Amino acid sequence: MKIDKVETFLVRWGDVSRPAEAGFGAATAVVAVHADGLVGLGEASPMQGGVASLAVIARDMAPALIGGDPLDHAVMLDRLLHKLIKLGPDGIVTGAYAALDIALWDLKGKALRQPIHKLLGGAWRTRIPFYASIGGNAARDVDGVVRTVEARLKAEQPSAIKIRWDGTRSEVDRDIKGDIAKARAVRELVGDDFPLAFDANNRYSIGAAIRVGRALEELGFIWFEEPVEYYHVKAMGEVAQRLDITVSAGEQSYTLQSVAALIDSGVRMVQPDIVKMGGVTGLMQCAALCHAHGVEFVPHQTQPAIGNAANLHVLSTVMHATKPAELADGWSRSADTFVNAPRPDGGCMVVPDGPGLGLVVDAAMLARRRVDVTG
Ligand code: CA
Repeated sequence: MKIDKVETFLVRWGDVSRPAEAGFGAATAVVAVHADGLVGLGEASPMQGGVASLAVIARDMAPALIGGDPLDHAVMLDRLLHKLIKLGPDGIVTGAYAALDIALWDLKGKALRQPIHKLLGGAWRTRIPFYASIGGNAARDVDGVVRTVEARLKAEQPSAIKIRWDGTRSEVDRDIKGDIAKARAVRELVGDDFPLAFDANNRYSIGAAIRVGRALEELGFIWFEEPVEYYHVKAMGEVAQRLDITVSAGEQSYTLQSVAALIDSGVRMVQPDIVKMGGVTGLMQCAALCHAHGVEFVPHQTQPAIGNAANLHVLSTVMHATKPAELADGWSRSADTFVNAPRPDGGCMVVPDGPGLGLVVDAAMLARRRVDVTG
């Protein structure tokens, strides 16, 4: 096979007849790799629209890929990552790498007429329980949190729920008592046995994290995500070691080595994100690292179509699935474009079984939503 074209573009969500919306989730950064009449699609990390990763692909990576064989993709991509390492590698370059890796797996699957999970060794399961990941709770009062959770429970019927705090990243320990009150109110809403998780989005000091973590233990939460700043790796490990509740981190880890550092620090559940670190290949390497250390592998996932499908292919191949898969707010925004993208189905998502990612694209809708930003 031979790569003959690499395209980069945004897919703009929302009402296409209206002016472009701003903000998180408004667009997805897509790469399309063409070879032998087939097209593989990949997706970069959506931070700031993902345009920086798309620019690196268009300017620095695409020229080196043209003429290459998609079946040599790991060699080509690792060569590029190491060539461009001084641009990051965290974030922009690894997002670009992840997008290309996913696209090349999609392309390989289409060429071989097999779903990605078959090429990875086969699926242990094709229905994957999901949790609703409900953000923005720092800005709500207790009633607002309860009403929001109630609505998502009813609409999506998830297998578990995670309440995320989000909030202002430059503040810590703003409302510890209020945060615990919100967690308690959600526990009262769902009853004693429903699985709940709490995502602090890095907003506590070590002492506050211990206090909140103890409350979550009493309330029967099953994990406590990113209690302290992601870049304080030793602090994250200290909190993990001092609490009984499972402490998780890793959505802001961009390399296998930084996931290894988290595990070394004492974190026992890691959450790498397929569009941020390594794509399908990187996530499979993380799964192996976790397996080697007896650490839970529960990827972070916020994307509506390509990223979600790629993540589910990987998850289906992992023997020990200890927690549900993430389904973040706004997942339905791609439904008119990626018409068979995984969606809630009795508490689960179904892993696509078509070639590659197995996604079916409405080409006319994709053309309407497409915005060329580079190249
Ligand atoms: Ca998170």
